Amino acid sequence: MDELIISERLVEIQEQCKKISSSLNLIQLYLNIQLIIVIIYISLPWLYEYQKASIFYLIWRLLQYSFHLFSVIKIRKTVDIISEGSRQFIEQLNDQIDVWAAVKGNHGALSKCNEFVYIIMFGLGNVVLLQNTLLLSKWILVVQLLFGWIVLAIFAFGLLAICFIMPFFIYRVNRQRREEERRRQEQAIRLIGTQIKYSDLNSQTFQPCYICLQPYDNDDLIVTLSCNPNHVFHSDCIRPWAEINDTCPVCRQRLQQQ
Ligand SMILES: [Zn+2]
Ligand SMILES: [Zn+2]
Repeated sequence: MDELIISERLVEIQEQCKKISSSLNLIQLYLNIQLIIVIIYISLPWLYEYQKASIFYLIWRLLQYSFHLFSVIKIRKTVDIISEGSRQFIEQLNDQIDVWAAVKGNHGALSKCNEFVYIIMFGLGNVVLLQNTLLLSKWILVVQLLFGWIVLAIFAFGLLAICFIMPFFIYRVNRQRREEERRRQEQAIRLIGTQIKYSDLNSQTFQPCYICLQPYDNDDLIVTLSCNPNHVFHSDCIRPWAEINDTCPVCRQRLQQQ
């Protein structure tokens, strides 16, 4: 691909990441407001009495909130990784650094809004605490405490479970990655065929290696691809290519396994 096309595509990706990020901020803001409503709902005694809110409904709402927040955080992480990856690529294309600066821009307004909501939540939390001790009757306090402990316990057990499962998960992912890598290397070796010393080629002369463009030394290990006896490469140069492609980089013909 042309370098210009790549950088244009990367800028596109950056723009998309920016849009997704903004949407995530909006969703998080919505979730925070929802949480505030739930907190108000369980903390105002008159509302509690009148609506006869079921504690199970509130637990359900809070679980729902946690689930949505978890999803938002997960998506945000993915977007960050993509954004960071493409940023590094753009920086590697030296003349494109200015493009990145332009793309970055300032889209922090919604984040600020979220921080504001957190401040409100902090204040509200204190009010709830005071109200609990002043206004609520004893049984409501007990129910709320129980409710709080149940939610805490769910989170604690969740964390504990993650702590136990994570090492196994990481081990499995690593093993899969290693196997995949080994499979690719074996595949590459089968595709490029046997490697021989350049000096063993009976003083035949070839074009310089198509990949690194360096002429061959007598000690260099080289391979001849199955497509054409003139398509000769350094073994070290063609192997990384063959790990991800099954065609000749010069003529694009499919390579036969040897
Ligand atoms: Zn080479
Ligand atoms: Zn070829």
